[in-house]
Amino acid sequence: MTRSHAAPLLDRLNAEQRAAATETERPALVLSGAGTGKTTLLIARVGVCLDRGYAPGEIAISTFRANLAREFRLRAQHAFGLRIARSLLMGTCHSLMGRLLRSRPDVAGLTEHYDVADEAASRRTILEACERGPRTLVDPADRKQMARLGKWLARVKAAGVAPGEAENWVDALLHAKAIARNLEGEAGGGSEGLDPGLQRLAAMWPDLAEPELPYLRAAAAIYPGYQQLLRDRDQADFDDLVLWPVLAMRRDEAVRKQFQSWASTWLVDEYQDSSDLQVEAFDLLAQRSRRLAAIGDDDQSIYGFSGATTAGILRFPERWPDAQVFRLTRNYRCSPIVLDAANALIAHNEGRFAKRLVSGEKRKRGENIVVAAAETREDAAWWVTAYIADWLDELGDDGSVFLLYRQNWQTRVIEEALVEAGIRYGLVGDVSFYERQEVRDALAYLLLFGACEDPAMAGGLPGSAAAVVGAPRAEDAVVAAWERVANLPARGLGPKSLDAIHRCWAEHPEIADLLEAGIAGRAALKGKALEGATNLAGLRSRWSDTGGQPLGDRLWSLLGAAGYLRFWETHDDPSSDQRLKNLEELARVADGLPTVADLFAHAAMSLDSVDALSPVRLMTFHGAKGLEAHVCILADLMEGIAPAKPALLAEQQGEPALIEEERRAAYVALTRTMTQACILVSSAGEESRFLGELLGGVAAREVDRVTVPPRPGRQRRRPRRAAG
Ligand code: ATP
Ligand code: MG
Repeated sequence: MTRSHAAPLLDRLNAEQRAAATETERPALVLSGAGTGKTTLLIARVGVCLDRGYAPGEIAISTFRANLAREFRLRAQHAFGLRIARSLLMGTCHSLMGRLLRSRPDVAGLTEHYDVADEAASRRTILEACERGPRTLVDPADRKQMARLGKWLARVKAAGVAPGEAENWVDALLHAKAIARNLEGEAGGGSEGLDPGLQRLAAMWPDLAEPELPYLRAAAAIYPGYQQLLRDRDQADFDDLVLWPVLAMRRDEAVRKQFQSWASTWLVDEYQDSSDLQVEAFDLLAQRSRRLAAIGDDDQSIYGFSGATTAGILRFPERWPDAQVFRLTRNYRCSPIVLDAANALIAHNEGRFAKRLVSGEKRKRGENIVVAAAETREDAAWWVTAYIADWLDELGDDGSVFLLYRQNWQTRVIEEALVEAGIRYGLVGDVSFYERQEVRDALAYLLLFGACEDPAMAGGLPGSAAAVVGAPRAEDAVVAAWERVANLPARGLGPKSLDAIHRCWAEHPEIADLLEAGIAGRAALKGKALEGATNLAGLRSRWSDTGGQPLGDRLWSLLGAAGYLRFWETHDDPSSDQRLKNLEELARVADGLPTVADLFAHAAMSLDSVDALSPVRLMTFHGAKGLEAHVCILADLMEGIAPAKPALLAEQQGEPALIEEERRAAYVALTRTMTQACILVSSAGEESRFLGELLGGVAAREVDRVTVPPRPGRQRRRPRRAAG
């Protein structure tokens, strides 16, 4: 007899979980809270399918992110062996659907050689579609406006709207919202009187505020032209990977049948973060086999900003009336105190299925929630390193610690404190502070102008510091820095001009000459390029003028004069604010150090401390989805950080949906905890409301409050001026 794949896995499950794992022959919804074993039972369900004779190559498993797919593959490999794990169809929704599109590019009007346009390419195409397309109220020359338009275009696509239908669809949406508002005003009773279709439209995108409307309308107007341009270039954008197969399945029965025969079983983890389009994709693909398992937790839906809607999971039983619904209530991950706190926190959200998780364990001493309050974020980070070191000792080899943050600029003080304490750390789904693009650019500027002042400096740089600016060896660092920033922001110095300057300079290889070579006439630059080279060389005197000032101030005025700060201020990238914050953080570090060389030595130390295998891992609240660790530290639980500022602004305008999403993100972070949660706050701002809410679920004696003393010898740092 062949060995059962499922038996050893099922043995470890409780009765509720086992039922959910074995009901494979009809639609199933597993809707339950964090840490209740959803992902665990999903693996067991794969085992059950294998035992029932389904080939691994017809079992499709969709996970939310590529890193979760990798983790899942490892677990599958452990359970079923390498050969089976490799054959399972496993990936994010986009990667799975992308494979279907690859098999039938004609459904999108593409050839078999089509490319997937990256973000920058699709941004350029949007711009072009605006310039060629219908006149809208959006100004193509304004990057911020273009970014907002791009966001709404992606959301229209994530809603599953076809190019030709977009304008009518947006009209219908706004109409539905207006009717719902009127009903609410008249009867005070909301939109219950509306027909279900209108009700659904009215409830979409609660963050669609009045000022966003021109962007949404413009997105709908340019959408057909944008798709045409992509098609002319034989390109699909990221959203198209899901969109085209869905549109094709909607209208063409033969395609639908073909795609449906690809996989006979669909298992979707983290289903709550599926967009309307993804929900429809899974529904269509499983329509014939009816073997679809949707697994998720509405309380952990944290991607609303990119078009995810909990309607997909909450309405699953309406779309699949014969679906078996499983609710698991026992949490196996968190210590009981953490679980009570998490329950109390999420209870403050209104639009949810009320559920209260119970713990399988008894309360243990030493599992109290720790709240450490410091005067500054630096003090808190310094304190937490000792806390981490104690836990690592206590937990031994298998211990794990997560440092969780809401926004990526927060890592700088944490990384710094870890480096100083000699604790190695890894980053999940993020890169370390000194590897971020904007930080490397700023360091390149510093290196270039610092080396003009002190030519000997560059020779003494640590190797990993040279790597920061993209140079293989220390002796190449300054030239690499120059190449990196000479045309950033654009100064008309394209590759040809840079090449010409470089050739001239090779005759007189003094670093300062590298800047002068462009304007010496020998490089024969003209027009814009000559102007750009002159401006760049002119920064040298700006830099020397600031000699004697703190290094952070010097950096800030250099970046300002170079136009680099403005570059991000006007950049059409949603991450621009984070990047400017990272630059401010860099200037804060520089303030505490005497020379550019010291700053590079400091960065090198930090880079050398990054170790992917370390038990201490840093990640965002969002990046922590699906993972778990013994000790979880939530950094800077402050108003304006978690919840983040945009949510506070929306709240002031009467829109609480974003605060609820922030609360779910904090809930995701907290429920990663197996043993102890530690929360850091500082008196630099106002404590997050989430702290009070979560502590409302536990007794005072279950909270250890620590007042962190100021760090001995700490320098007080001045706040940085606004960029510009
Ligand atoms: P999340 O909502 O965070 O994605 P989840 O519901 O997917 O969580 P899992 O990650 O599957 O939960 O499980 C959480 C933890 O509980 C894991 O450490 C897992 O090994 C353990 N676990 C799950 N089921 C059981 C069980 N029946 N007995 C003991 N431990 C279990
Ligand atoms: Mg999970």
